[in-house]
Amino acid sequence: MKKAFITGITGQDGAYLARLLLEKGYEVHGGARWISQEQMARLEQLGVADAVQMHVFDLSDMNNIFRSLRDLQVDEVYNLAALSFVGASWDLPVYSGDVNAIGVTRILDTLRTLAPETRFYQASTSEMFGLVQQVPQSETTLLYPRSPYGVSKVYAHYITVNYRESFGLHASSGILFNHESPLRGKDFVTRKITTGLARIAHGGNRPVVLGNLNARRDWGFAGDYVEGMWRMLQQDMADDYVLATGVTTTIRDFIAYAAAPLGIELEWRGEGIDEIGTDRKTGQRIIEVSEEWFRPAEVDLLIGDATKARENLGWKPKVDVRALAEMMAVSDYDALAPGGSQNGSDADRFQPFGRCA
Ligand code: NDP
Ligand code: GDP
Repeated sequence: MKKAFITGITGQDGAYLARLLLEKGYEVHGGARWISQEQMARLEQLGVADAVQMHVFDLSDMNNIFRSLRDLQVDEVYNLAALSFVGASWDLPVYSGDVNAIGVTRILDTLRTLAPETRFYQASTSEMFGLVQQVPQSETTLLYPRSPYGVSKVYAHYITVNYRESFGLHASSGILFNHESPLRGKDFVTRKITTGLARIAHGGNRPVVLGNLNARRDWGFAGDYVEGMWRMLQQDMADDYVLATGVTTTIRDFIAYAAAPLGIELEWRGEGIDEIGTDRKTGQRIIEVSEEWFRPAEVDLLIGDATKARENLGWKPKVDVRALAEMMAVSDYDALAPGGSQNGSDADRFQPFGRCA
């Protein structure tokens, strides 16, 4: 039986990957911060919380990482832990670097010392492409990050490549474009939209307030992407791979896809921060725009070229963006129904500091 250690197991991808590895017969160990003891909701939602063995783990603590990897002696390490929200990385730029960048060096250097045969996966991101230098983006596209998050992930990507080349570690970097699911954090725009629309479909009257509706993302389904992570670690040679759908969609179109199964047809009026989206049938305001949710620097056109993953790993996504938006909207709608699972907490509980001063 293979043994795997997933850092960030309480997050969206951690939960889907844990389920996948358990289905494949792995013994699954998960690392989570001490303060995350109560954060088992996603693993519970997928029915795997009792099947994983949890350990206190923090990317900011070298000795904790050293002891974890020494004691567990696993075949594969998937490093999914990170401060993963771009918006918050402007509020926590130093922490982003410590956890997302130096934290990866802490793991790699421990593996080099203690367990050079262990295979390693690093959760890299399309945010590294930032101000895109080529469309679509592939493994060879020049990186130009646009946020402290993106910058920290560039470091993490290159230190992974460097340890592979310097010390022969089986260390792969998955450059994943945005992937979402009903388990996505509620601050990310897709889930903010689907939780907000679900509330409105249940009779709520608070519009969803968003920032840049013209931004585009290449959105896939998290369940498809964790399969790609696993495939990377099954190759004889470690390498870097883009995982993406190759389809880019504006925030505005994602809203329309999510609204359709809830019986809401949007009509758009105005421009910039005066733009609003209303329900064509009732005239109710559904979407508003506020400067508060615009970013200091934006990543405008992400679209990935996953040819290498398709050819070498036999990987391709199964769920398209429209099906994804529908899946998320319906899940959030059902969760708000009587007896549903949602506790009523919303996105946007944390406001960015002084962004619009
Ligand atoms: P989530 O935000 O859902 O999960 C992040 C996980 O990291 C959580 O379990 C969180 O724990 C944990 N974590 C945060 N800080 C620390 C720390 N200091 N030490 C240990 N654990 C920590 O992210 P996703 O599941 O969506 O993403 C997984 C990884 O993939 C991340 O590295 C992300 O940057 C990357 N990625 C994600 C993409 C996406 O579209 N989802 C795209 C490309 C890359 P806690 O429960 O305590 O918060
Ligand atoms: P990211 O790609 O990891 O930054 O994922 P997000 O879901 O946080 O953001 C995707 C895009 O949506 C970015 O270009 C944001 O500028 C845009 N966006 C527009 N309005 C909002 C909003 O209210 N919240 C968030 N999180 N993003 C928004």
